[in-house]
Amino acid sequence: MNIHEYQAKELLKGYGVRIQEGIVADTPEGALEAAKKLNAETGTSWYVIKAQIHAGGRGKGKVKETDSNGVVLAKKLEDVSEKAKNILGGTLVTIQTGAEGKKVNKILVAEDVYYPGASEPKEYYLSILLDRAKGCNVIMASTEGGMDIEEVAEKHPEKIIKEWVDPKVGLQGFQARKVAFKLGLEGNAFKEMVKFITSLYSAYIGSDASQFEINPVLKTSDDKILAVDAKVNLDDNSLFRHKNLAELRDLAEEDPLEVEAGKSGLNYVKLDGNVGCMVNGAGLAMATMDMIKLSGGEPANFLDVGGGANATTVEAGFRIILQDPNVKAILINVFGGIVRCDRIANGVVEAYKSIGDIPVPIIVRLQGTNAEEGARIIDESGLKVSSAITLKEAAQKVRAAIA
Ligand code: GDP
Ligand code: MN
Repeated sequence: MNIHEYQAKELLKGYGVRIQEGIVADTPEGALEAAKKLNAETGTSWYVIKAQIHAGGRGKGKVKETDSNGVVLAKKLEDVSEKAKNILGGTLVTIQTGAEGKKVNKILVAEDVYYPGASEPKEYYLSILLDRAKGCNVIMASTEGGMDIEEVAEKHPEKIIKEWVDPKVGLQGFQARKVAFKLGLEGNAFKEMVKFITSLYSAYIGSDASQFEINPVLKTSDDKILAVDAKVNLDDNSLFRHKNLAELRDLAEEDPLEVEAGKSGLNYVKLDGNVGCMVNGAGLAMATMDMIKLSGGEPANFLDVGGGANATTVEAGFRIILQDPNVKAILINVFGGIVRCDRIANGVVEAYKSIGDIPVPIIVRLQGTNAEEGARIIDESGLKVSSAITLKEAAQKVRAAIA
């Protein structure tokens, strides 16, 4: 589960990680109030207004309606509400949102931390994630902060520092010092970075996160180390023991169809194609999507109905797929291993009847226990549904349906 930057910073702060302070707002007036409060608390008189969406690249991204960037600086209190107004309610398009962009419902009004001083402020990159192959957590750091880290990794792999932490042993002091040293820090900034990494690692473990990405981590002109941005990804399977974190979920950030599917226990991911598919098992779903492509179509979604598919799950799946206006045909590909094919076939027929007239052709490929009987039920149903036993047959029928 992803959370917003302002929530992530709150979480980090709770573990003693120094952050760029800010106050969240959802109206231009609220933004001005937030700025005043921030001025009283931190003494700052420059403010950064940051769109809160579940996507990065906001600084370079643009709000469609106003052409404002997703992260802007206000050097006067009087400018805050106007600049907030240009972001709030708008559609922010960044390199990570896709062309349709994301609606901005909240902004974070933050203190400016790039103030001038004894040295130039400098941006670093720091992340912690799970290295499944090594069975370890890995801390990744770079002096190339603020940049697109994938690009750094590709062009200058030597600029990415990696330190693996055995979760059984935990982060050792020397490891945090090693990372800070390799980042070229010294004096107070070195000590601050060690503290930053140590508290960040405790936050990562304490919140059962699967990924933390702090880009940029800033060394201020007076040698403080703090998080300017924070991307936190929590492990869904751990949320049962973090009720307070589970509450941070923002459904407005998720695809409505995916949320609805989740309620029915379906694993659905919306895609851009024209052939809807409903499959049991993730592996078979992937293979089915390949098959749709090979037959000249494009999958409209990934949908795994799970092992125990029945009329209720099939109906829920149908309803979700049919809400996608791009769907020109539906392919149901089910392996009757745990569940018998005749049961699935009856489920499809029942679901069809319950929904009423389905405007697109449906191809049902059932294989496994009682496959023939399943095919017979489909063919004799009198509905606009055709059956297939082999994948090849199913592919041909999909091709014919979208031609
Ligand atoms: P992202 O673009 O979605 O990754 O959002 P970030 O939170 O990383 O902010 C984008 C950029 O805004 C940063 O890389 C900084 O260059 C800039 N920025 C953020 N906070 C401040 C600030 O306090 N002062 C100034 N001058 N720039 C800031
Ligand atoms: Mn960032």
